[in-house]
Amino acid sequence: MKDKRAATVLQILRETFTMPTWTKAKRDPFETLIVTIISQNTADRNTSRAFERLSKRFEIKPEVLANAETSHIEDALKAAGLYRSKSKTIKQVSRIILEKFHGSVQPILSLPLGEARKVFIQMPGVGPKTADVVLLFSTGKPTIPVDTHVNRVSKRLGFAPANGDYEAVRTRLQSLYEQRDYLAVHVLLIAHGRRYCKARRPLCAQCPVNMHCPSRGICNDNA
Ligand code: SF4
Repeated sequence: MKDKRAATVLQILRETFTMPTWTKAKRDPFETLIVTIISQNTADRNTSRAFERLSKRFEIKPEVLANAETSHIEDALKAAGLYRSKSKTIKQVSRIILEKFHGSVQPILSLPLGEARKVFIQMPGVGPKTADVVLLFSTGKPTIPVDTHVNRVSKRLGFAPANGDYEAVRTRLQSLYEQRDYLAVHVLLIAHGRRYCKARRPLCAQCPVNMHCPSRGICNDNA
């Protein structure tokens, strides 16, 4: 155990939320990359709808998407926000993978974690969160993607510096937990942020980890 309070919080979150079944299987890395690009600033339901439409129209493979008409990708992605720029990103990323990596994400995934992250982040429209999601969910590489919920909840719990940027939050969280827990930390902090530790009015009174949180009652709610 690396940090007692962090371990206690994780244990309570494990008892509060069920880990989704999809977390138990490794996901196809290219599909994960495409879904994560679509999901940027987009609700889960709209991400699923957009990905489903894209999958019906195209085989989700770099050689197919690299050569698809941008307008056809846009049409499939209309359920997602910023669908024009995401369509452009999907096409560009597919072309890079096709031309530089022989049409497969595998050579990138075989690199050491730091190098693989760098390769993904250098692709247009791919940020560190997208890179970390692909690496964690497709290969189990030891990294914790920091989305808006993970960022907010970690800071309120005092697990990351209040003014920390993406890397500060990620590395601090990783220092608190064992690698085998990274996926659970990511998934459960998101679940907690959605149900209790909401952005505007966190439900501190009902929060299952409020006894372990230095920010309890921050929004003067009924805590
Ligand atoms: S006590 Fe409030 S601020 Fe702390 S984790 Fe729970 S909901 Fe978030």
